[in-house]
Amino acid sequence: MFGFLKQVGDYTRDAVDAARNLAQGFSVTFDHMKRRPVTVQYPYEKLIPSERYRGRIHYEFDKCIACEVCVRVCPINLPVVDYVMNKATKKKELRNYSIDFGVCIFCGNCVEYCPTNCLSMTEEYELSAFDRHSLNYDNVALGRLPTSVTTDPSVQPLRELAYLPAGEIDPHGVANDRPRAGQLPSEVLKTLTPPAKAAAKNEGQSSGDAKESDA
Ligand code: SF4
Ligand code: SF4
Repeated sequence: MFGFLKQVGDYTRDAVDAARNLAQGFSVTFDHMKRRPVTVQYPYEKLIPSERYRGRIHYEFDKCIACEVCVRVCPINLPVVDYVMNKATKKKELRNYSIDFGVCIFCGNCVEYCPTNCLSMTEEYELSAFDRHSLNYDNVALGRLPTSVTTDPSVQPLRELAYLPAGEIDPHGVANDRPRAGQLPSEVLKTLTPPAKAAAKNEGQSSGDAKESDA
């Protein structure tokens, strides 16, 4: 009899515990409903790509010397450098240059090693196309200026976490004029003692020490 009553008591206690845990879980879950969603509402809101973002490659035909370094450092030898050798001038004459963005892995090697800086990476990432062959950009398409989320009037640009002011973790509602966290090197320099003053100070201290030791 007592065993049965103990079982009923245990069962009741477990049921009450379970109900309490359930209520706690729901209270935490409902608490989240009061917070502002962190969703970036693409395509009306877009995050601004970072400064070192490796997007679509930009190419300047006039700067290219057809050296093919970009091809050699590319993991898949992707850029197609189309040139002819001018026997009279003994110089390469560039005809065409193309990169297939259906194959490119956007590693930035070609940009890093180009000796004339005619390649650069842009912040453009919306490259989807219905026909994969249209991803093969020739020098005209590569030379087009990139689209920018900050100049598109139909887009609300939002800053990424690393560009938010100190203490902010959600880009929504952060005023544009608030600077990002941290200091620029020029601002750090202003806080440092100028080297001339520091040297004079050290000199004064050392001569003072010398006088003391003489005495
Ligand atoms: S970004 Fe990388 S994969 Fe793309 S063309 Fe340049 S080196 Fe090749
Ligand atoms: S490395 Fe630069 S200069 Fe040389 S072929 Fe490639 S794009 Fe042209």
